[in-house]
Amino acid sequence: MLKSKMIENEIQLQCALKHNQKIVQVLLNPQLQRDQRLLCGQCLQTININGKAIVYKDILEIIQEQQQIKLEQVYNLIKSQILTQLNLLKSNVIQQFEFIQCAVQDWINNLQLLCQQYQQYSFHDELENFINNKGIYFDQNELLQRISKEQNIWYSKVTSKLDLFNQFQEQEKCKEMLENNKLMIQKLNVNFNQQIEISEDDIKLKQTELSVKQQGSCLSIAFNSSDSIMVSTNKSLINVWNFNNGKLELSQQLKYHEGWINSLVFSKRQNLFLSCSSDQTIRVWKSYGQNEWISSIPYQQHTDKVLCMILNQNEDELFSGSLDYRINSWKLDLDKNELQYQYSLDKHNNGVYSLSLNQKSNIQHHALQARIKQLFGKEDKIIKWNSNTLLNNLFKALDQRFCLSKRISLFGYLIVIKLMKYGVFQENTEKKLKLNSDNVNMEMFQFPLVYNKNRNLMVLRHKIFIYIIRELKNGNFKIVEQLNRQTNKIFGTVTNDGNHLVFWDEIKKEYQIFQLQEQ
Ligand SMILES: [Zn+2]
Repeated sequence: MLKSKMIENEIQLQCALKHNQKIVQVLLNPQLQRDQRLLCGQCLQTININGKAIVYKDILEIIQEQQQIKLEQVYNLIKSQILTQLNLLKSNVIQQFEFIQCAVQDWINNLQLLCQQYQQYSFHDELENFINNKGIYFDQNELLQRISKEQNIWYSKVTSKLDLFNQFQEQEKCKEMLENNKLMIQKLNVNFNQQIEISEDDIKLKQTELSVKQQGSCLSIAFNSSDSIMVSTNKSLINVWNFNNGKLELSQQLKYHEGWINSLVFSKRQNLFLSCSSDQTIRVWKSYGQNEWISSIPYQQHTDKVLCMILNQNEDELFSGSLDYRINSWKLDLDKNELQYQYSLDKHNNGVYSLSLNQKSNIQHHALQARIKQLFGKEDKIIKWNSNTLLNNLFKALDQRFCLSKRISLFGYLIVIKLMKYGVFQENTEKKLKLNSDNVNMEMFQFPLVYNKNRNLMVLRHKIFIYIIRELKNGNFKIVEQLNRQTNKIFGTVTNDGNHLVFWDEIKKEYQIFQLQEQ
C-alpha cells in the first residue's frame, strides 16, 4: 500500500516570528497566511491567541489521516476499476495466443518423439537386411500414417483458434472492454464533477401516480447500482421488480426464508443482493442473466433474528447485527455467491439494530473493529452521554467530516457527531437539528439514513415523518422538505441517483413513489 508524503520537511517549517524552533500550536485563522499560522513555544509567550487554535501534532495527524484516505481512494479507483479490467484484457489476448503456441509446441514435441522412435535399430536385423540386399528398409507408409494422425489432432485445434482471429471475435471482445473502460471513466468524471456543485435549494417531493398495492408488510427496499432493479420484502417473501424511472413491474417472487425478512442489501458491483431474516439466517442471491435469481444456502450463525446488514466498500466483507446481541463478520465471495463466517463482536448488551462503517473499512480491518465497538459496544461514548438516549440509527458521511445520528428522547433530534480525533466522537451541539416532536409513536429502526453526496441530500425517517436535509455552504444543516405519513410504519429508501423516494406504509399498504424535484 502506498503511503502519502508531505512535501514540506517538518523540521524546516518556520514559525510566525522565525525563531527556528519546533512548531507547537497552529492558528486556524483564515485571514492569516502560511507561516503566520504556525507558532513555536517562544511565539506562544509573545503572541496572543485570538480565535481558534489547535495543537500542531493533532492537526498534522488529522491532515495525514485525511491524505491517507485520499490516497487509498485513488488507489482503489485505479486498482479495482481500471487495472482489473486491463489485466483481464491482457490475459484474454495472451490466452488466445498461448493456446495456439501451446498447441503448436505439443505438435512439435510429438513429432520429435516420433523421430526418436526411429533412433533404435537391431544389428542382427539390419545385418539380415543387408545380406538380403534390402538396403535401408523401413515402413514408410506407417510413418506417414503416424504423421497424419498427429496432423489431424493438432490441425483442427490450431485452425479453430486461428479462425477466431479471422472472424475478429476476440478483437471485438477486446475493443468492447476498452470501450467499457472509457465509458466508465466518463461516468466517474460526471460523478466527480457533480460533486462540485452543491445545491442549497429546497427540494419538493412530488408523488407519482405509479403506486403499487401490497397487503403484506414490507420492511426493506433496496436498488441495484443502476436503479433498474428494485428488491423489496413482503413478510417472508422477496419481490424483485423492474424499476424504470419510477415505474414498478414485478418480475419474480423469491420464497425461501422461513421468517420475516428484516433487511435487503444490494451489491454495487454485481447482480447480487443479500437478505437477512427473523429465521436467523442470511442468504445471498445472484442473477446469472434473464432475472433468474438463485439463492445460496441459508447461512446461520446468529441465534436470534437477524435485523440489519452492511457491506464494506470492497464488497468482500459483510456485517450482520442481530437480536442475539452480536455483530457477525462474514467473508463474501461475489463470484461464488458464498458467505463464510469469520468472527463475532459480542460486547453489546442489547440487540443490534443498525450498523455503520467508516470509509476505511475496506483497508484497516482492526481500526474498523475498534470503531464498531466504539460506536455500538459497551464502551460507546455517545450512549454514555445520556443513558436515556437510544441511538437507533447512525451513519458516517463519506468524506469523514461528520457523521449523523438519529436518536430518540422525548423530543427527536438529528445530531451531528464530529470526528474530533482518531476514534473519538463528540456531539457537535451547534449543529443539532430539531425534528418534529412526537410523544405517541415509537421509533422504528428500519429505513436507513440515506446520504447522497452527489446531490447533497440526506433522507431519514423519524417516527411518522420523512425528512430531506441538506448541508448548507456554511456547514449547517437544513430540513428542505418533510412528509407526514400518519404512521411510523414507513419502510423504504431513495434510489442511488437520488431521483426517487420509494416506500411502503402500513396505512396505505402500497409502494408509493415520489420524485425529488429541485426547486
Ligand atoms: Zn516562534
